[in-house]
Amino acid sequence: MDPAPSCSIVVFTRDLRIRDLPALQAAIQASPMVITAFILDDDLVESLSSAPNRLSFLLDSLCDLRDSIRGLGGELVLRRGNWVVEVARLVSETGASTVHLSQDVSAFARSRIDQLTASLADSSCKIQLHSGVTVLPPGTNSPGTGGFWKVFTPYYNKWIEARWREVLPPPKQIHHLEGIPTLPVPTLGELSVTPPSPNLATGGESAGLERLKLWAKSSLERYEENHNALAADDSSRIAPYLHFGCLSPLEVAARLQGRPGAAPFIRQLCWRDFYHQLLAARPEISQVDYRNRGDVWRQDEQDAETWRQGRTGYPLVDAAMQQLLLEGFMHNRARMVVASFLTKDLYLDWRIGAAHFMRFLADADVANNQLNWQWTAGTGSDTNPNRIFNPTVQSVRFDPDGVYIRRYLPVLAELEAPLIHDPDVETRRLLGYPEKMVDHKLAIEAYRAQLASYRSD
Ligand SMILES: Cc1cc2nc3c(=O)[nH]c(=O)nc-3n(C[C@H](O)[C@H](O)[C@H](O)COP(=O)(O)OP(=O)(O)OC[C@H]3O[C@@H](n4cnc5c(N)ncnc54)[C@H](O)[C@@H]3O)c2cc1C
Repeated sequence: MDPAPSCSIVVFTRDLRIRDLPALQAAIQASPMVITAFILDDDLVESLSSAPNRLSFLLDSLCDLRDSIRGLGGELVLRRGNWVVEVARLVSETGASTVHLSQDVSAFARSRIDQLTASLADSSCKIQLHSGVTVLPPGTNSPGTGGFWKVFTPYYNKWIEARWREVLPPPKQIHHLEGIPTLPVPTLGELSVTPPSPNLATGGESAGLERLKLWAKSSLERYEENHNALAADDSSRIAPYLHFGCLSPLEVAARLQGRPGAAPFIRQLCWRDFYHQLLAARPEISQVDYRNRGDVWRQDEQDAETWRQGRTGYPLVDAAMQQLLLEGFMHNRARMVVASFLTKDLYLDWRIGAAHFMRFLADADVANNQLNWQWTAGTGSDTNPNRIFNPTVQSVRFDPDGVYIRRYLPVLAELEAPLIHDPDVETRRLLGYPEKMVDHKLAIEAYRAQLASYRSD
């Protein structure tokens, strides 16, 4: 009898695409037969059951990936259970010689790979890790003195000059090992989670490519002038596609480079790489302060809930919190304003805000979310103690006509600017819109006094 043909397994994680995926290309080049697999990990499903936007986006992305792989002659083998156990089971069922995976930075992803390595230690199957989650793999752009970059600008200067790897073409064909049992991609209902946000974007590589193509054609050129304009809503909205790897960050950057308007946009993509290399170097900063100032954060559940519900009495903050619930997305400028409000005006722990974003953002990403929260809170990299956003001033500046507020806060829809930015007491009472929960000026004075007390301790 002929020996079974040698085969490799590609285990997709958050690299749900067929284009520019080094793990997939390497498997196809190394083995005549390739098994493409995704393990819907029980712990992941459990943790995403309170984050239906991310779960919904993931399931869309899996359906799209399965269709693309079938189009190439392959099959996406879907299994459910414990990730390590299921990958090891697939190895023993198929006699695969190699498991190809994209390297990731979070403590969760790294521990999973360590466990898989231990579990396969007695087999002849090797694990090969590949780049693909960032433009430059964490650790490849480091200061001459070693370690990692602690501030953004020098990181960016090296990043933009660095030689990036070539963008890989999508494979032409996948020779699939027949007869491997697979499950269908479940529906959200089958996973019995609450419904996602009504205006959530559709996940998947196809939707991501379409979004990028349309946006680059209409808006790339104006990115610098428009990306802070709340009403224009003209940023790319590709963040969830990057988070789930439906788009390759390298391919996005390389394809747009040189086009009018691309430089400031690519610089933003570099922030994503920067935070990934920080998290890779210090995985604990997803939970602990990157720079500890000695903060004793307030933990007031009632104030936190008022913020979460968008009932702070500051129209821009409240509109932004509604956008998050409606779309599973929030404009970057609005993210900075609501995060500053939580951590400075209310002096509540940044982890409270980060957890709420993790629950509702489709693009919620440990590196980008936790480290942007820390950036705003003043405990992160590139900190600036004077980074305090006055929510009313920000509203007048970035939503001068109140269009963004009116879009997400129907209770104020009849108001014109400038009243809409800060309605008077009588108007609030008539409309049933809450009083401001704190006075910004007084709250910031108290915040500054608090910081000063740590310095004098
Ligand atoms: C408190 C707070 C929390 C955030 N949480 C997340 C998060 O969980 N996931 C996430 O992807 N981004 C997060 N960001 C960064 C930024 O707000 C989003 O990446 C951006 O709004 C996504 O919209 P876009 O795709 O239209 O961005 P664009 O303006 O079109 O930018 C293109 C891409 O560049 C990257 N990028 C842009 N700004 C940043 C940034 N400040 N840091 C890192 N990458 C950036 C993103 O991948 C983004 O998709 C957060 C920002 C703040 C202030």
